[in-house]
Amino acid sequence: MVGRTLDRIRRTAPISALGLVLLFTQACANLSGQPEFLTITRTQMHMGTLVTITAVAPTESAALAASTEGFLEIRRLEALLSTWISSSELSAVNAAAGKAAVHVSQDTLSVVKLALRVAEVTDGAFNIAIGPAVDLWNVTEKQSIPTTEELQLVRNQIALEAVHIDDAKQTIFLDRAGMRIDVGGIAKGYAADQAVLSMKKAGATAGIVALSGDIKAFGRLPEGKRFPIGIQHPRKRGEILLMLDLENEAISTAGDYERYFERDGVRYHHILDPSTLQPARECQSVSIIAKEGGWADGLDTGVFVLGPARGMHLIEKLGDVHAIIVDREGKVHVSSGLKQRIRFPAGEEKEKPR
Ligand code: AMP
Ligand code: MG
Repeated sequence: MVGRTLDRIRRTAPISALGLVLLFTQACANLSGQPEFLTITRTQMHMGTLVTITAVAPTESAALAASTEGFLEIRRLEALLSTWISSSELSAVNAAAGKAAVHVSQDTLSVVKLALRVAEVTDGAFNIAIGPAVDLWNVTEKQSIPTTEELQLVRNQIALEAVHIDDAKQTIFLDRAGMRIDVGGIAKGYAADQAVLSMKKAGATAGIVALSGDIKAFGRLPEGKRFPIGIQHPRKRGEILLMLDLENEAISTAGDYERYFERDGVRYHHILDPSTLQPARECQSVSIIAKEGGWADGLDTGVFVLGPARGMHLIEKLGDVHAIIVDREGKVHVSSGLKQRIRFPAGEEKEKPR
């Protein structure tokens, strides 16, 4: 067994990921004539969150082996990318800020390059140099509001133009002292992509990798169905807002409802607007569907900051991605390519989106 904590194995799949809910319990239970052991679901703790992997394979041992490979891949990436791990490559890059370029693996380089690409298309709304401001807010632990002066002191460090990548030398250099890059807004989606590759190599014919609200699905369930997913209602805990089926694609959700605290009726959450260094105010949740999980994860955070109007405009312009945006008033906006694909839980049809 791999994993630092409890490794739960199920031969059917009742799962709830944060922000998104995997809905194929029913599908697995209904496998008429299909041996149940073909589908294995396991949950472990990685990247600071619950990771659930479902693997479909010709034999139970192949499904187990494939899920193990998926978890190992996520753990490998965590060791490279986590800023909570002092020996990680990103910690080394951050520690050398203002001093030296640091040689990194192709994975770290790929994640940072992808993050810069998301920053470009979102006009800097997605900004991995946001680290010092994220630390000042520290929404989960400190629950205190940084002063304008405190935020002003880190403003100069939140500069994407000071992130330098040298592809040939495979290095990253942060050219201002005190800078810190934080890939928390994109790494889980990237890890889901890579875990899927490892699972396929290990013999899985289909499966799903869910790191909290970042999910990547490949292939179909044994009875031929796509993987059904529920998007959590951002204001009604445990309720599903709408559903859709995934096949060979990823979905990522960013919301203001999981890591936050409230003061005087105001919600302070973990997604910061780089232009104000305050929590972004225009959305309650953003789900992005894309072929690649890294792209979906980066964009969910970026679109959350951009807000429904600019965010949806970007999604329609990009073309190969889809979005479900719940705005600050709770109105649901669905991109044009997705309107035919979504379903509402029974009795909720009247809540039609825009
Ligand atoms: P997600 O849950 O994918 O939206 O990612 C949220 C995480 O991304 C936060 O916990 C921060 O570590 C980081 N983050 C917060 N604001 C931003 C931003 N504007 N751009 C990039 N990353 C951010
Ligand atoms: Mg994200």
